[in-house]
Amino acid sequence: MALFRKKDKYIRINPNRSTVTGGTQTKPEVPDELFSQCPSCKGTIYKKDLGLEKICHHCSYNFRITAQERLALTVDEGSFEELFTGIETKNPLDFPNYMEKLAQVRQQTGLDEAVMTGRAKIDGRSVALGIMDSNFIMASMGTVVGEKITCLFEYATKEKLPVVLFTASGGARMQEGILSLMQMAKISAAVKQHSNAGLFYLTVLTDPTTGGVTASFAMEGDIILAEPQTLVGFAGRRVIESTVRENLPDDFQKAEFLLEHGFVDAIVKRQDLRTTIAYLVALHGGQDE
Ligand SMILES: [Zn+2]
Repeated sequence: MALFRKKDKYIRINPNRSTVTGGTQTKPEVPDELFSQCPSCKGTIYKKDLGLEKICHHCSYNFRITAQERLALTVDEGSFEELFTGIETKNPLDFPNYMEKLAQVRQQTGLDEAVMTGRAKIDGRSVALGIMDSNFIMASMGTVVGEKITCLFEYATKEKLPVVLFTASGGARMQEGILSLMQMAKISAAVKQHSNAGLFYLTVLTDPTTGGVTASFAMEGDIILAEPQTLVGFAGRRVIESTVRENLPDDFQKAEFLLEHGFVDAIVKRQDLRTTIAYLVALHGGQDE
């Protein structure tokens, strides 16, 4: 039956060439690095159009950005002094391949752990700054993340500085088991000492902020801001649905839902964040230098 006979065509991707070759035709392959798909509206975006702030021009979704990109968007140029680096985990559970994985992620991200900590100026005012980066093992919180953030709060208390903390996390660092969960109490104690000293703590929830980070310091800020459409929650949606046996609203665990229910003080667009942070720090006693 010639009518239904398969033609002898094939599509083969040749890893050594930048073209997709077919049996009868050759067409140019579009390099992945030129375009992005928006995770929210699924629109295709030419990467250059995303700009420094990485915002989808179809639906205003804020793409996840690296700690370095966040730093560049937030602080006065050249004012950042990184602190508390070089703290290393001892792999307390002897988790297989954990140290190799850490070494690999350090190289990929240019970070020493899932949070970058230091001192910087925002619009001329000094702050203790922490930025979590979801590219580093989904910004999971292990002993080093806990120690760095605790040190940051202790430093801020000593130096009488406000703390500005960009949170992001997939939850606890499973490779460190119960020791990860202990960080919640440790950091919270340092936050309380900072608060008792009358100092200001601002959290900015970025996509995604979940698990033990949400259950501790992310929600302990004097003022809690969030970027639009940020996922914020403790347990995942499916876990909750199967536990309570109810269908949850579509926007459940989105920043907008949290704002409506009083968990978040304001949703601020990424392009307005720096100005908003500077204003809040100035209002709540940041040092003018
Ligand atoms: Zn979009």
